[in-house]
Amino acid sequence: MNDIAHNLAQVRDKISAAAARCGRASEEVTLLAVSKTKPASAVAEAIDAGQRAFGENYVQEGVEKIQHFQQAGVSGLEWHFIGPLQSNKSRLVAEHFDWCHTVDRLRIASRLSEQRPATRAPLNVLIQINISDEQSKSGIALSELDELAAQLAELPGICLRGLMAIPAPEAEYERQFAVARQMAVAFEALKTRYSTVDTLSLGMTDDMCAAIAAGSTMVRIGTAIFGARDYTKK
Ligand SMILES: *Cc1c(COP(=O)(O)O)cnc(C)c1O
Repeated sequence: MNDIAHNLAQVRDKISAAAARCGRASEEVTLLAVSKTKPASAVAEAIDAGQRAFGENYVQEGVEKIQHFQQAGVSGLEWHFIGPLQSNKSRLVAEHFDWCHTVDRLRIASRLSEQRPATRAPLNVLIQINISDEQSKSGIALSELDELAAQLAELPGICLRGLMAIPAPEAEYERQFAVARQMAVAFEALKTRYSTVDTLSLGMTDDMCAAIAAGSTMVRIGTAIFGARDYTKK
């Protein structure tokens, strides 16, 4: 087994154990492999090990990988855009990705909806919440959620699937869990109002277990699968 296959197996075991501890089925939690900065060869190793859903933060880099695997005839992959989205890049996301996790304003959602090719299913979107109220982070406050969700639900080219957050790093499990619960409560409330809502994207390498215990349905894992990232090459 190569490193990536081995790491993936370990992450899957960790997800199953975390889910079992709180009485959830491991199938309730989707593993998104975050492949940003990693070469297509690393993604290919993950595909060989059975991984299908991948997350990318940089539009151009993501599109290159999507096209690489299309040209190689690999089907059944699911590509999630999880980075900050600028208006001038929305068309590439709408045309190439399956999901966008970082919608935080009507303007960008409208563009994604208009730019989504009619030949494709609506783009799955998550509303990003700035749950730790950090100035540097994108996302809306929970108090703004109802209004934005109602606006997004009207757009034909996108499908509102749920919420996403990147909480401020916390070393302690109890604190990670407390923040994750705030997200889970908002997610449960949204779910009762919109039948399309089924996804809470929450949890990374360092807070995955707390996120799953709190109710996350999708964890975004990079480092634990692909190893540390080297940003000097970007
Ligand atoms: C990079 C990134 C991840 C993965 O983080 P790791 O700590 O490497 O698991 C998850 N979500 C987002 C939004 C990211 O940018």
